[in-house]
Amino acid sequence: MSDVLSRPTLTPLAKPLPKPLIDPFGRAISYLRISVTDRCDLRCVYCMKEDMTFLPRDELLTSEELERLGRIFIRLGTKKLRITGGEPLVRRDIMRLITTLGAEIGQDGLSELTLTTNGTQLSRYAAGLHAAGVRRVNVSLDTLDPVRFTAVTRGGKLGQTLAGLHAAKAAGLRVKINAVALQGVNEDAFDDMIAWCGEQGFDLCLIETMPLGDTGEDRADQYLPLSTVRARLDKRWTLRRSATGAEGVAPGPARYWDIAETGQRMGFITPLTEHFCDSCNRVRLTCTGTLFLCLGQEDHADLRTPMRDGASDSEMEEIVRAAIARKPKAHDFIIDRARPQNTIARHMSMTGG
Ligand code: SAM
Ligand code: SF4
Repeated sequence: MSDVLSRPTLTPLAKPLPKPLIDPFGRAISYLRISVTDRCDLRCVYCMKEDMTFLPRDELLTSEELERLGRIFIRLGTKKLRITGGEPLVRRDIMRLITTLGAEIGQDGLSELTLTTNGTQLSRYAAGLHAAGVRRVNVSLDTLDPVRFTAVTRGGKLGQTLAGLHAAKAAGLRVKINAVALQGVNEDAFDDMIAWCGEQGFDLCLIETMPLGDTGEDRADQYLPLSTVRARLDKRWTLRRSATGAEGVAPGPARYWDIAETGQRMGFITPLTEHFCDSCNRVRLTCTGTLFLCLGQEDHADLRTPMRDGASDSEMEEIVRAAIARKPKAHDFIIDRARPQNTIARHMSMTGG
């Protein structure tokens, strides 16, 4: 036998993976949220002003730039990537980005690509999302009452979101409903929502409104502490602490409960009454390439300028690493009639919820 034939086949050496991202408080950063647009087809009263001014399009990262940053984070240990906005499905080239990032799901890459959406465009996109590797979506729905829905979204149509949810289910996507708890809007709606989510096979997550950006409304009028909601729900439902988070892994900022009567799960995101910053594993990239290290703090890093100035991937990795070294310990949200200003001037639609 010739020497050449008997030689074992060598697999090429893979490029060594860089050190994972660990922040100054020992938290591993493995979760990136990307807000792909600040635009939206709705104007939810807790999120935006009715007459929002949106960014000029040339300020937005292109799909190629978003893909490149996504890959850089994946190389640095991002396992979970959530696409959000604004409304991500109103961005015209959204499926290109999702398909490219979906191709990164695999052994050493991403473990999950997910999406947060208001559901209005899901009828059109649900099947394509599943084909691209998305398996779960979070859909925002604050009430099942059509009149209140139109009021809270300032013009949305409940039927359109419900049709989107139907399409998501039909496409095989698991759904979690996100509802922001709002005084005088949906405080009496949660029993019906729990029952409906049980019938549909959806999990439900209630969220406290956060003081982010001017909405033209008084947040103190809207704010409903989830401690109050929970006390009411406990009278009707049997909630047992869930062994896992919504993703079947250790929970992030929400705590999950199994609802004995429906078999579904329910989460409570309580940034005001009880924050979970100690277990924070995420950072947020805006559609303009700004990396925010905490939803409720101003610390950030501009990734767009070095990228457009020609920085190499390894230079970009160092910029990201230096930013993570500045991740703050916690937010300090407060909603108080005595202090009417928002804690943070930028809207949730900018940073990405
Ligand atoms: N448009 C998509 C949607 O509504 O799901 C994605 C973006 S939206 C900013 C993401 C999440 O943030 C939604 O669940 C929304 O309800 C929530 N949200 C927006 N503004 C908020 C605020 N001020 N406080 C708490 N949650 C907020
Ligand atoms: Fe749009 Fe989502 Fe904000 Fe509502 S919460 S205005 S759907 S970005």
